[in-house]
Amino acid sequence: MNIHMVDTITPYKHIQQEVDEAVLEVVRSGQYINGPVVRRFADDLQRYLDVPHVIPCANGTDALQIALMALDLQPGDEVITPSFTYIATVEAIALLHLKPVFVEVDPHTFNMDPSQLEAAISPRTKVIVPVHLFGQTADMAPIMDIARKNGLYVIEDTAQAIGESYRFPNGHSMMAGTIGDIGCTSFYPSKNLGAFGDGGAIFTRNAALAEKLLMICNHGSTQKYYHESIGVNSRLDAIQAAVLGVKLKHLDAYNDARRAAAARYDQLLADVEEVQLPVKADFSRHVFHQYTLKVKSGRQERDALQAFLREKNIPSMVYYPVACHLQRAYLKFGYKQGDLSLSEALTEQVISLPMHTELSLEQQAYITQQLKQGLIAKTRIL
Ligand SMILES: *Cc1c(COP(=O)(O)O)cnc(C)c1O
Repeated sequence: MNIHMVDTITPYKHIQQEVDEAVLEVVRSGQYINGPVVRRFADDLQRYLDVPHVIPCANGTDALQIALMALDLQPGDEVITPSFTYIATVEAIALLHLKPVFVEVDPHTFNMDPSQLEAAISPRTKVIVPVHLFGQTADMAPIMDIARKNGLYVIEDTAQAIGESYRFPNGHSMMAGTIGDIGCTSFYPSKNLGAFGDGGAIFTRNAALAEKLLMICNHGSTQKYYHESIGVNSRLDAIQAAVLGVKLKHLDAYNDARRAAAARYDQLLADVEEVQLPVKADFSRHVFHQYTLKVKSGRQERDALQAFLREKNIPSMVYYPVACHLQRAYLKFGYKQGDLSLSEALTEQVISLPMHTELSLEQQAYITQQLKQGLIAKTRIL
């Protein structure tokens, strides 16, 4: 059985003719940067997300950096974010000479724990960056309440959760990335909406912020060769926009397929006591960018299980093996082992199984059967 961690080829094959035509249209048009195809994709995404402003850019990391640049922050200003995330979230903060202040995550959903936020706020705090990790939104209602009460901006890192929505306690739902002041996403090929290369986008409801974000993406310029601020060069290629425009129409179906695969895993693994299955919060639909288990007994068993699966030709990944606050490059912010014990424990327990739109029941039955074997084999050795 040939099992992949992600499958970017088969979804393309299903829509090959439409994608090929859209790409060729760009090739023949000669408009490779900006132009009507990029505009059309931004408009389509705007409608899909029900948000008034979508600014395409070069990748998700840029999106985060540009979002922070738009807020007129001063060096040393503090940005609260989880440590259990992909490094890009924290990198954008550090690059701008801002200070990341890490909060713990909920050990079940792996997302920012809102009850920890208030204690992390200081007079220098300016921004909260929740990350919708593995395809599930952070608990945005309390995060937004705390932000508003303390006059803080909220930037959502929704690179892993495009198409996900959050349900507020009053029943009203909003798309992930459109709840805070700014939302940032990535179209890296393996994300739920993946391009054939790099891509990203920034969302906002605030017209003034939208203008600023657009200007920063374009060398700080609104009028060619006149520069009002120091910006960057961050654009979405027209060819990528063409691909994304076709795939966007299928995003809900892709996310449904991921949810169906997750439900099959849940069922197949329901009787396995050694692992905690993904916990779906009731405010979330979950778009399962990853299907991530927690091996309760910790690193030794988790690593042994991964090695066992590898032997059976079953890929798996550890997202993430080191929490950001303990990454060597970030030690200068003064955190040490033990400061975020829940996040640190997760790095020793998590393992993500193959997750994509094309997983078959047969493959998942094999994966879960071997996973159970792996856990038994390990117990026998111990
Ligand atoms: C992928 C990812 C990013 C960065 O996106 P790129 O397009 O690769 O720059 C940022 N944050 C999170 C949580 C991600 O998963």
